[in-house]
Amino acid sequence: MKKVYCAKDPLMIGHLRNVLLTFGIQCVTKNHDLGSAAGELPPIDCWPELWVVEDEKSTRAKAILKKTLAPLASVKKPWLCRGCGENIEGQFSECWKCGRDRSGKTPGRVLRLVPSAARNR
Ligand SMILES: [Zn+2]
Repeated sequence: MKKVYCAKDPLMIGHLRNVLLTFGIQCVTKNHDLGSAAGELPPIDCWPELWVVEDEKSTRAKAILKKTLAPLASVKKPWLCRGCGENIEGQFSECWKCGRDRSGKTPGRVLRLVPSAARNR
């Protein structure tokens, strides 16, 4: 057996398992139920894992996973805030500085992490 993927989200692992199964690749999940038992943020070694039963299919499985995850990966790209020009890391959906979201909409709530006096210096 070969491990092909691990993720914090058990739902994601379950989804990817289904994807591989539709391609005729037998796979099993590990740690699938430990996540919730370990609390809100399980340590990385408790993350749910996806294992391919037949080693020789792991390369194909990885290729399929890569294709399946590609649209998600592009969402995680860093983006430039249209409100203040700050470079925001991909995992954030809104600007930490001015609170605008990725599409540049006016913030519903403003995050004032930087005092305005410090910003004008
Ligand atoms: Zn901003």
